[in-house]
Amino acid sequence: MITIALSKGRILKQTLPLLEKVGISLLDDPFTSRKLIFATNHDDLQCVVIRATDVPTYVQFGAADLGIVGKDGLLEHGGEGLAELLDLKIAQCRLMTAVPAAAVGQLRHDKRIRVATKYVKSAQRYYQAQGIQAEIIKLYGAMELAPLVGLADEIVDLVETGSTLKANNLVAQDLVADISCRLIANAASMRVQHKMIAKLVDQLAEHI
Ligand code: ATP
Ligand code: MG
Repeated sequence: MITIALSKGRILKQTLPLLEKVGISLLDDPFTSRKLIFATNHDDLQCVVIRATDVPTYVQFGAADLGIVGKDGLLEHGGEGLAELLDLKIAQCRLMTAVPAAAVGQLRHDKRIRVATKYVKSAQRYYQAQGIQAEIIKLYGAMELAPLVGLADEIVDLVETGSTLKANNLVAQDLVADISCRLIANAASMRVQHKMIAKLVDQLAEHI
């Protein structure tokens, strides 16, 4: 049995059509079912549907052979025990810094700034590379609020259209990383299930 870990939420909406294209369909609808494990039309293939941030962990420890997850989640996880097999080019967005409109153009190099983000590792790496002294404050959601109430000077968050930033009077500044969905595999599964995984990678690659 091969297990694929799927990220729930917005990635799932774009993942299911892609799986359909390569002939894989879940027997229950993950958007209405409360199940966590989903049988598919293939007897030897099942899917688990979990939080995007948990997908790399399931795959790292071999609880799932394969996973579909955003690059943002991979960067935070660190990629230990995982192989990144394919850029699926879905759920494309950008990890960016953003500041209040009134702060655009202010120099950040001469002081220590506070940054609110869910993406602590990516942010730390970015500010270090820029030579900017940053105190990173971990949040789990609504990063846009932090600069508005004085919790942080700026944020690092995913930006697609920028409309959420705009609604909160924030302006995207610098690119931290280009993000899209990746197919990942457990390192041991890559050896044991090599044939099946290689076939799936080829099929998916045709439909990207
Ligand atoms: P929650 O929002 O419930 O706290 P979450 O942030 O893990 O959970 P989503 O918001 O569905 O779940 O995001 C999951 C993944 O979707 C992200 O890790 C990222 O890869 C991708 N994603 C998030 N926001 C966008 C966006 N605006 N455009 C494209 N892809 C995005
Ligand atoms: Mg979210």
